[in-house]
Order: sequence, then structure tokens, then C-alpha cells
Amino acid sequence: MKRLAILGATGSIGASTLDVVARHPERFEVVAITGNQRADILFQQCLRHRPRYAVIGEPAQAKALQEKLRAAGVATEVLAGASALEMVASLPEVDTVMAAIVGAAGLAPTLAAVCAGKRVLLANKEALVMGGALFMAEVRKHRAILLPIDSEHNAVFQSLPPDYASDPTRAGIQHIWLTASGGPFRTTPRERLQRVSPEEACAHPNWSMGRKISVDSATLMNKGLEVIEAHWLFNLPAQAIRVVVHPQSVVHALVQYVDGSVLAQLSNPDMRTPIAHALAWPERIEAGVTALDLPTLASLEFSEPDYARFPCLSLAYQALEAGGSAPAILNAANEIAVAAFLERRLPFLAIHDVIAETLGALVGRPVKHLADVMAVDAEARSIAQAAVERRRC
Ligand code: NAD
Ligand code: MG
Repeated sequence: MKRLAILGATGSIGASTLDVVARHPERFEVVAITGNQRADILFQQCLRHRPRYAVIGEPAQAKALQEKLRAAGVATEVLAGASALEMVASLPEVDTVMAAIVGAAGLAPTLAAVCAGKRVLLANKEALVMGGALFMAEVRKHRAILLPIDSEHNAVFQSLPPDYASDPTRAGIQHIWLTASGGPFRTTPRERLQRVSPEEACAHPNWSMGRKISVDSATLMNKGLEVIEAHWLFNLPAQAIRVVVHPQSVVHALVQYVDGSVLAQLSNPDMRTPIAHALAWPERIEAGVTALDLPTLASLEFSEPDYARFPCLSLAYQALEAGGSAPAILNAANEIAVAAFLERRLPFLAIHDVIAETLGALVGRPVKHLADVMAVDAEARSIAQAAVERRRC
């Protein structure tokens, strides 16, 4: 029996995780779930999964939810705020933590799970982008098990030899390919991109996801964040991590070996596949996902990304090469710019400009502690906010 804490349970990954968990009640027990604001969803999830703890953003919301649950005869204890997230992520009775909070808010609780030596299922890529060196050092120090949920990284993980982590040099990897669907604007001309709306940006052709990652997919910054994520997860240099556009989202990643072999993982685009893989690893369990029917796939296409129309991807490679605090600056500026775009305060193409300006305004420095990362994050956010104001639409 695995005992789970699901950080970000009310989101898209959280809901898919609970869906897989509910298919295997003999294997999984939900000890804690968290959500920032959606008390209605959290209430329903408590009714269904009866966790010991639920965490919500504000104390007032916690009080109301606690009363509602008590009236419904549910014994879940409701807590509030960031410290409660860290507490449930490191509970002794929890062995597995799904890290599915979006953005920088996920870093501290995910790191708390790592420092408690948990098995950490990592969806929250921003945590690794912001504090990769520090994060991986804590994974090693506390012997946490880190399993990737991001479909591309989960696919790479599945296509690597099982002993890869113990000696990466023996594996003979030339490079890996992360596939990108190209997002909703794959074929949209640049002139038109100036005027696209949040609704258009969030209408992803293949995946149903939260709004922030949907915009990241539309700018291709998502793939950029994933390049940085892959660097830390698989200990590969930037030039060994390549991106290929694959509109069908069936091949999730490929590993090119020195002998000419290429190993890949294929599945229908449904996050329950990587979630089930990581939940049960090294076993396999049913995920509720429709099997891939090869004869009905008309074609699988691959092409180079268009770096001119999607310059955010280049910014991410640059930040990775620069190292130190640069990826944290990139991430913070991106979060500010994407939030402004979603609130219709910033045009789509200006997302890139805000990030580039913020990266240019700050001198990179080494980041050794969580406090260093959070300081860089705060500084980059205020510069990015000012850059947004100047471009306000
Ligand atoms: P989402 O917006 O649907 O859900 C986000 C979750 O985080 C919610 O539960 C929300 O309440 C919580 N949250 C947001 N802000 C918070 C805060 N300040 N404090 C505490 N909790 C907070 O997002 P999602 O699509 O489920 O993505 C979650 C993470 O997984 C992201 O890092 C994303 O990049 C990654 N990811 C998602 C997918 C996908 O298919 N959705 C695929 C790969 C990776
Ligand atoms: Mg992905």
C-alpha cells in the first residue's frame, strides 16, 4: 500500500492522479490533498477519497471547508497556507508525494518532500527550473526517489537503461529528443500572433491542461522549461537535449544512442499514462487510457521548431547555458508575463520581450540555498512586473 500526498490535487494533474488512484484502492491510500482556492473541488475530493488532511490557501477558506466537511460526516482535518503544504509533503505516514502545484509556489513543498526522503512524482517542472542544482543535491543527500511526470521526461526515463542514474557515461547516449506538439499556434503567422487571445492560447490541440502550462505550450516556453528540466533530471548538457515538433503528440520523447539505435515511448496523449507509470514504478498498472491503435494513426510527423516565431525556446537554452540564477530569472519573468497575458494586460508576443528584458536586467549569480532562489525569484518578478506595465495593452 502506498500512502500519498497530492500537492495541487484540484488541478489538471491532480485530478488525473486521483482518477488513477481510484482505479486501484488496494494499492493507494490518499493521506493528504491540497488546492489553493477551489474549495468546492477540494470538498468533493475529500468526500470521495477521505484523506486525513486537506490544505487550502487561506485560513478563512479552511474554516468554511472544515465546517462543511464536518457537517457531511467527513473527518478530514483542514489546514491553510504554505507551511501546511510543507507539513503534509513531509508527513511520516506519507511515502509518495505527487508534486503538481503550478509554478514557483511548488518549490518549497516539493523540496520539503525531497528533504524528507520521499518518493517524489514531479510534475511541477518550475521547481527544477528554478533551483535545479540545489534540488538535485537534496535528492542525493536524502536518497529521495525522483520520478518524472512530465510526459516527455517520463518517456525519456522509460527509454533509458534502468541503471542509468548510477553511471550515465556507460549508457552511450548521443542525445535525447523532447517532442513538442507545436501548440495551438504551430502554423499561425507571426502577424496574427500579435492579436491572439488567452482563450485561443489555452485551446491546446492535443492536451487538456491548466491555463499557465497551456500558454507556455503556445509560446513553446513549456518546451524550454522542459529542456532545463531534462538537464537536471538526466544529467545531460544543453547540446544533448534537442527539441522536435511532432503535432500528433504520440511519441513523447526519443533517446538516440551512439550505436544508431533510437528508443522512444509512445502513447495516446493522456497524462494518466505517465502518472500511472510513476505511481506504480517499477510495476505497471492500468491507467484508464485508450490503447494506441497504430493502424488508425494516419501519420507521425516531425520537424524543426521555428525559433523565429517561438523565440522563448531560445531564451530557455540561453538561460540553461548561462546557469546560476538565470533559469530562476527566466521562470519568474515567464510567470509574471503569462499571468499578465491571461489577464489581457499584455499581448502574446510581448511575453518573450518581458522575459528577455528581465534576463538582461539582472546579473546571474550562484544559487546555493532555497533563500537565494527565492530572493532571485522576487527580484526578477518585480523587474518583470515593471516591464509588463510599460507594455500594457
Ligand atoms: P492547474 O492550474 O490545473 O493546477 C495547479 C494546482 O496548483 C491547483 O491544484 C492549484 O490549486 C495549485 N496552486 C496554484 N497556485 C498555488 C499556490 N500559490 N499555492 C498552492 N497551490 C497552488 O495546473 P496543471 O496543468 O495541473 O499543472 C500542474 C504542474 O504540472 C505544472 O507545473 C505543469 O507545468 C505540470 N505539468 C502539467 C501537465 C498537464 O497536462 N496539465 C503536463 C506536464 C506537466
Ligand atoms: Mg511536457
